[in-house]
Amino acid sequence: MQLKGKTAIITGSSRGIGRAIALKLGQMGANVVINGSSPSEALKKTEEELKAAGVNVVATVADVRKIEDVEAMINTAVNTFGSVDILVNNAGITRDKLMMRMTESDWDEVLDVNLKGAFLCTKAASKIMMKQKSGKIINITSVVGVIGNPSQTNYAASKAGLIGLTKSIAKELASRGINCNAIAPGFIETEMTDVLPENVKENYLNNIPQKRFGTPEDVANVVGFLASEEANYITGQVIHIDGGLVM
Ligand code: NAP
Repeated sequence: MQLKGKTAIITGSSRGIGRAIALKLGQMGANVVINGSSPSEALKKTEEELKAAGVNVVATVADVRKIEDVEAMINTAVNTFGSVDILVNNAGITRDKLMMRMTESDWDEVLDVNLKGAFLCTKAASKIMMKQKSGKIINITSVVGVIGNPSQTNYAASKAGLIGLTKSIAKELASRGINCNAIAPGFIETEMTDVLPENVKENYLNNIPQKRFGTPEDVANVVGFLASEEANYITGQVIHIDGGLVM
């Protein structure tokens, strides 16, 4: 129970990778704040699953694009559990299209959730972490933010931006006892990747040396490590979890 007494906020944790991270951190002993942008069956189900696993959990509906929602989510964490020790910026969306077909709103929506959302949550959580002189911030970026991808100009830009944000925050807050790292998953089996055409999936698989897609748990295990004291001397890094897809 390496995270006993710690409180973790995981944005976008109603399903997929965020859900697995919430479960992992909860199993490591953390109090867990889960989150979705709107009330959903998935959010309710994840809350019930965590409770059944013996995790101290509270579910919040907060749109990470909105500062008032973000502040309310942070307040819920503090009022319920007394602190914010770990922030996982995981909420993310795609609006995939070739650049010539991509609209301004496709661009804005993706940048607003994936990048501005992480900025707002990081700023709000950091206020608390700076006072307590400790904290772990973990940003879920993507290998696409490192190597680019056709039809994902908006998504790749948001994820590359998140890497710049990670390194800047790591430098800015290191002296306050706060670590900030990024995780770059490759192809992970979730609802986000479910919708991709079979030929796209096959193409990915052919290029993964380990010849399998990742699971949300593959990502959650590394988040668990980065959130723990064992990772105290790691900051400003981007850790790939991709079966060797990008190296
Ligand atoms: P997913 O299954 O589509 O889940 C996305 C989560 O984000 C949901 O809980 C969703 O909740 C939440 N969300 C979306 N917009 C939000 C907003 N404005 N405010 C708060 N929450 C919001 O996605 P996933 O595959 O688990 O991906 C999780 C993260 O990993 C994303 O950042 C994604 O870019 C990244 N990633 C995924 C893969 C992959 O292969 N799956 C690879 C690399 C990186 P609501 O439905 O309530 O909005």
